[in-house]
Amino acid sequence: MKKVLISLVSIILLSSIPAFADTNPAKIEKAYARQELVSQIGFRLLNSSRIKERMVFQYVNKDTVNAVTYYSGRRIVIYGGIMNYTTDEDMVAAILAHEISHGIDYSHGIFRGAFSFLPSAFTPRKYEKKADKRAIDFMVNAGYNPVAMIVMMNKVFAQDRYEFMSTHPLASRRMAYVYEYIYYKYPEFLKNNKYIDDVYYQNFLLNSQDNRRKLKAKIDSHSKGNVNYD
Ligand SMILES: [Zn+2]
Repeated sequence: MKKVLISLVSIILLSSIPAFADTNPAKIEKAYARQELVSQIGFRLLNSSRIKERMVFQYVNKDTVNAVTYYSGRRIVIYGGIMNYTTDEDMVAAILAHEISHGIDYSHGIFRGAFSFLPSAFTPRKYEKKADKRAIDFMVNAGYNPVAMIVMMNKVFAQDRYEFMSTHPLASRRMAYVYEYIYYKYPEFLKNNKYIDDVYYQNFLLNSQDNRRKLKAKIDSHSKGNVNYD
């Protein structure tokens, strides 16, 4: 009777232990591997650009296609849904580098502490552009290929019709200034472009023809100006 009671009690106790949210071992292992990858890339980006602000990186195994920086605790969260789009570490670095830039903005400026999110809340698009450009520098400093930023944007971001209601600039505009920034500052990545045959990059070349033509005209007019002054 005592034995039966003990085993009954242990059955009740065991059954009260909550089941693991995801019991598929392959899925759990994948989440662990992704967490480690995200932390490794995140800290590599921080160290190589000598970023002194503390930040942590958290992988959340949900299908949400997003990454977000929380101003309290400077916690960068990257979701499974956007990780599913990445096929190399450079693409993961592109997402994290953009979020790190927000993390830095949250800890500087006239707004500090709990209100540090205010500058980006007032003029979000300005901060998004800054985050994109600074992310390119962080990526290159850490040895990642910045063209991965364009590949990710073209693959993931929808093309909204209007910009004025949005916190982020239009996807095509973001890709245009990222391309221009790489063109001027890190041209070697475009000359020796590892993504040249990538289907998403090829599509970017197709849909950005007008913007790239404008950039070429701008470069040509600059160089003519230089010739005149010589
Ligand atoms: Zn952003």
